[in-house]
Amino acid sequence: MSDQLDTIIIGGGFSGIAAARILHKADKKFILLEARERLGGRTHTKHFKDGKYVDVGGQWIGPTQDRMYELAQEYNVSWYETYNQGKNILDLNKTVRTYTGLIPKMDVASLINIDFLLKKLERLAKEIPIHSPWTAKKAKAWDAVSLEVFVRKNCFTSNCFKVVRAGLETVYACELNEVSLLHALFYIRSGTNLNNLLSIQDGAQQHRINGGMQTLAERIAESFMTSIRFDSPAKRIIQYEDYVTVKGDHFSYDAKNVIITIPPVLISAIEFTPALPLYKTQLIQKLSMGIVGKVLGVYDKPFWRDQGYSGQVVSDEHAPFQTLFDSSPADSSYGVLLGFCIADRAREFFSKDQDERKTIALINFSKYFGETASKPIEYIDHCWADEAWSKGCYAAYYPTGAWTNFQDALAKPTDHIYWAGTETSSIWYGYIEGAVRAGERAANDILIAS
Ligand SMILES: Cc1cc2nc3c(=O)[nH]c(=O)nc-3n(C[C@H](O)[C@H](O)[C@H](O)COP(=O)(O)OP(=O)(O)OC[C@H]3O[C@@H](n4cnc5c(N)ncnc54)[C@H](O)[C@@H]3O)c2cc1C
Repeated sequence: MSDQLDTIIIGGGFSGIAAARILHKADKKFILLEARERLGGRTHTKHFKDGKYVDVGGQWIGPTQDRMYELAQEYNVSWYETYNQGKNILDLNKTVRTYTGLIPKMDVASLINIDFLLKKLERLAKEIPIHSPWTAKKAKAWDAVSLEVFVRKNCFTSNCFKVVRAGLETVYACELNEVSLLHALFYIRSGTNLNNLLSIQDGAQQHRINGGMQTLAERIAESFMTSIRFDSPAKRIIQYEDYVTVKGDHFSYDAKNVIITIPPVLISAIEFTPALPLYKTQLIQKLSMGIVGKVLGVYDKPFWRDQGYSGQVVSDEHAPFQTLFDSSPADSSYGVLLGFCIADRAREFFSKDQDERKTIALINFSKYFGETASKPIEYIDHCWADEAWSKGCYAAYYPTGAWTNFQDALAKPTDHIYWAGTETSSIWYGYIEGAVRAGERAANDILIAS
């Protein structure tokens, strides 16, 4: 066996970096193979020449994401509150209305209906065993239908359906008919509760990392940078009795163990010898990635705040984006409006060329915030489905039947291969916190086994 290593980590997103950090601290010999030229995976901070930056990938952290706060503290990376003051906007039935607080201005019947539906989802999610959703009492029934079936059954007004749909699409990053109800409930349970997933204040959107989310990934990796190989996609993995070989176009490494942290959809691009267990390969074929595009306008200042707006918008299907947020930096030295373009709306929007997309986006931003919104100093949009090394985001979702038929097949170790990545985490599945926890779990499993 040449080039003796303890572990090869595949993927330099938060999961791979979290695994590497543990192995580095334990003095283990490892390398991390990353297909891209950068770290961070589905987090990506884009920098402009004048020092401004925007997060085009994962950006928020919030309560119960304990590992994220602990890591930020350990690596001296600070965080700040997401701007959350002023009037919000609801764009419903081609009418733009403003409201303050949590309750949108709409007919009372729809408001009662929204409250009823969200509480019902919340209640059902509590019945999910977080580490084994397929063992829930009603798992089979919930896994036999999509989230859309549930939402339609429990929406009694069309306004309720429109608002709930926009909110849930923003959470799940897919059409509601694409995801199993069981997965939707598991996702809520995994992220503590629905209120947490939907909220800024006391929720998953509460804090941003100063300097951008990728800064944290890079800071953690500083002490083991020499163990990282960029531009190194793993293409073949061969398992022998007591070691594994990982090959790419221009390299071949041997190690006792491998940790794979890449999105499930990309696993099938790797050739495994021997082949992976049938349950794992079949499940991998079923898991699709969500589709989200971030659409960002950068301005001299967050001018909408002066007009009393929070920058937050929820829009029905007449608008190109489900939701908008104020994504400006902590010191407000410039302003950033962020639109989430998701599922069918993303497929339509990103089928157009960039000039057309820019025109549509800026017309939409100015509809809410006036003429100034049509003149950003920078415009940038980014569709993660176009990225060869992600193929979508925020994460893979389980369609009907996948949880109950395949159970824990994704995360189960296969001989010398340990599986990580946010999709293998029971806690904060789909989020950066989940990625970190999964990477740490895989690395600790290796340490325990060695
Ligand atoms: C637009 C968007 C918004 C989001 N918002 C949030 C948010 O606000 N908060 C939050 O918590 N989460 C958010 N997420 C989700 C979050 O970013 C992901 O859950 C998390 O980053 C996943 O980390 P990971 O390490 O599991 O996977 P990845 O980040 O995908 O890392 C996998 C790595 O593997 C590499 N790779 C792939 N194939 C190979 C190969 N064959 N060989 C070597 N390397 C390979 C990839 O290049 C990548 O770097 C968002 C994601 C997106 C894209």
